Amino acid sequence: MRDRIFKLLLVTGFLFCLHITDIMAAYANEEPLVNVSWQWSKAVIQNDPNLPDLDGGSENSSRKLQQPVDLRILQQRYPDIFFLQGPTDQKRVALTFDDGPDPRFTNGVLDVLKQYNVPATFFVLGSRAVANPDIVKRMQNEGHVIGNHTYSHPNLVQESDLKTLERQVTRTEIALNDIIGYRTKLFRPPYGFLYNELVEKLREMNYYVIAWSVDSLDWQEDPPAVIASNVVDNIHSGAIILLHDGAEASGDRTNTIEALRQIIPTLQEQGYEFVTVPELLNIPFMK
Ligand code: ZN
Repeated sequence: MRDRIFKLLLVTGFLFCLHITDIMAAYANEEPLVNVSWQWSKAVIQNDPNLPDLDGGSENSSRKLQQPVDLRILQQRYPDIFFLQGPTDQKRVALTFDDGPDPRFTNGVLDVLKQYNVPATFFVLGSRAVANPDIVKRMQNEGHVIGNHTYSHPNLVQESDLKTLERQVTRTEIALNDIIGYRTKLFRPPYGFLYNELVEKLREMNYYVIAWSVDSLDWQEDPPAVIASNVVDNIHSGAIILLHDGAEASGDRTNTIEALRQIIPTLQEQGYEFVTVPELLNIPFMK
């Protein structure tokens, strides 16, 4: 009898172990985990006034953390304001760049876009826009669209505070309006970290949330050919492509610039047309 109970316990324990990762994944995807304990390291504060750093740490350190809610789930919950990609019936794609304006790399990105006469969408940080208004003006003058990527790049889930979101977004909206003369309707969350209440707050603030369907993983700083193939190998009609023109103080986006010289002509040869995010999604981008 005791033997049988022991065996039963053994089997139950084994089955539980088999499914523990599924159970954890389902839990992580269902509800906002605002109380998870993050393995966290803050970026080193540095002193360049033109390069305010990312409050939530580098893409490299943060993207390894568990995504609080899968972006595909948020897209299904909020299909009218949350976008991963555009319509798939036309060979159109959108390049998007986060974390600038960065005086070290953004002009290099703009030079390549200009060379190929390709428009893009830049999700800028308010703090960096205020420090580098001329680069933001250059984006606008050269036909690119500008979106809001918060003021200082906090981890909005770690902060777990609607007031933080509101403050960060509004401060950026006002700062950008002073430079470009309009209030943008486009928002991209730092690290792609969001949960229901934050999306609902953004809706209330009259924003569209722009995620992505193709991740270049350029923040890993692999060689340009690797970054390019991350994009080209996964491309599809309607793709929103995630790249970075800005980096943390110790980061480098030189390889992103070089990768663009491969990505743009390759996709053009395949018949893809580059458009801005609001063109791709057919949505307004000014409030
Ligand atoms: Zn970012």
